[in-house]
Amino acid sequence: MSTDPSKHSELPDSLWAATTPSGPSCPPLSGDRCAELCVIGGGFTGLSAAYHAAEAGADVVLVEAAEPGWGAAGRNGGQLIPGLKLNPDDLERRFGAERGRRLVDFAGSAPDLVFELVAKHQIDCGARRQGWVHAVHGRAALPQEEERVRQWQARGAALEMLDRDQIAAMLGTDEYIAGMLDPRGGWLQPLAYARGLARAAQSAGASLHGMSPAAQIERNADRWKIATPSGNVIAKQVLICTNAYTEQLCSRLARSLIPVTSYQVATEPLSDELRARILPKGHVSSDTRRLLRYFCMTPEGRLVMGGRGHIREREGREFYAHIVASMHQLYPETAGARIDYYWSGRVALTLDHLPKICELGPGMWSGGGYNGRGVAMATAMGRSLAECAGGASADSLPLPPTKPRPLPLHGLRGPAIGVAVAWKLLLDTWESRDGR
Ligand SMILES: Cc1cc2nc3c(=O)[nH]c(=O)nc-3n(C[C@H](O)[C@H](O)[C@H](O)COP(=O)(O)OP(=O)(O)OC[C@H]3O[C@@H](n4cnc5c(N)ncnc54)[C@H](O)[C@@H]3O)c2cc1C
Repeated sequence: MSTDPSKHSELPDSLWAATTPSGPSCPPLSGDRCAELCVIGGGFTGLSAAYHAAEAGADVVLVEAAEPGWGAAGRNGGQLIPGLKLNPDDLERRFGAERGRRLVDFAGSAPDLVFELVAKHQIDCGARRQGWVHAVHGRAALPQEEERVRQWQARGAALEMLDRDQIAAMLGTDEYIAGMLDPRGGWLQPLAYARGLARAAQSAGASLHGMSPAAQIERNADRWKIATPSGNVIAKQVLICTNAYTEQLCSRLARSLIPVTSYQVATEPLSDELRARILPKGHVSSDTRRLLRYFCMTPEGRLVMGGRGHIREREGREFYAHIVASMHQLYPETAGARIDYYWSGRVALTLDHLPKICELGPGMWSGGGYNGRGVAMATAMGRSLAECAGGASADSLPLPPTKPRPLPLHGLRGPAIGVAVAWKLLLDTWESRDGR
């Protein structure tokens, strides 16, 4: 089971792992190494932080327990989603006009940064920008969607509402009553992007070490010592970018996030006829269900469908049955299609649906908790963390840094999530019937 990168370093049998050329060489750390900045974790947050810090001239060492892209970064649906779950007005109310506006800009423009990096470093990851479609599953979810469009339009973003016919044509299913198109969004192949970002970080001068799990972090005089099994990094600053895979390294941080598992399946390449009907223009989509479904068509015509599942990562096909059932419900014509790949990974949720930047000690920060929107957001967060490590004031961060707040009864989250999932499923099913 791929839950602990230091014990199970192989990638899951995902479509992405099967179709991505190998990443750059990242030999394990060997002996002691001094650096200005040590980045722990080689997902999008850590790779982007290492890249931006090295570009700005810092001496950077990144240690990764397995290989860059091993975690959620190399397993996700590749959807570049602009904005946070909360609407812009809510963010400005909550953080004040100035900081709230900066946070809105940060989240809305996160996909821009990804497309810029892909173009600048010629990362071969199939990046495309046809837009992200948020599909409305029932009448109860419609006002919130209309409000979201109105608020972003008021800030100059070209979002548009889609009526029942428009969304049916765009997605190739009549399961949804309406939708929203956000043209800022798009898709990329996530593992290829992670490996490309790793290469870009190395070209900028960062040293990347795979198979180097940080086991302990200690403060010695004015430096941090990050111990791995084959050597130590002695650094002035540390960025912990382990997100949903944080585990024992920093338990107060791990207990401040809720790791849940997201499951995906990918079909065999579909016939030209089906490809012309399902997501014909290359949009990517997720829906407004509480237990959301997300789906896209890959360049080679495989339909990839994902959603929440068992709290722990499970390999048995039975744990994916509900994802396959969702696919057949949305697209009955795929019922005969073979499923070639099944895989899962961990997403870090937060109670208030906001990402978190934590200040963990002098010169030590963490960033994570993207609530399933981390492809673009983690890349942008990595840049902000690098700027902060480079001396920008903490005030310039998109979110005010906080201390990690461990969630009460974190150890009992399994049963609690089980009850919450059953309840959400009931509401989703009920609401989906309303409006047909
Ligand atoms: C199945 C799935 C589908 C998703 N779909 C989407 C989507 O379509 N769009 C979207 O925006 N988001 C999606 N997400 C979420 C997105 O993938 C994450 O938000 C994002 O990848 C987070 O990146 P990260 O760098 O913070 O964490 P990760 O990519 O998880 O990286 C953390 C890294 O830390 C390493 N690590 C852990 N412990 C140590 C240690 N002690 N020492 C060194 N290294 C360590 C791990 O090996 C791992 O590589 C999805 C996630 C999953 C799992």
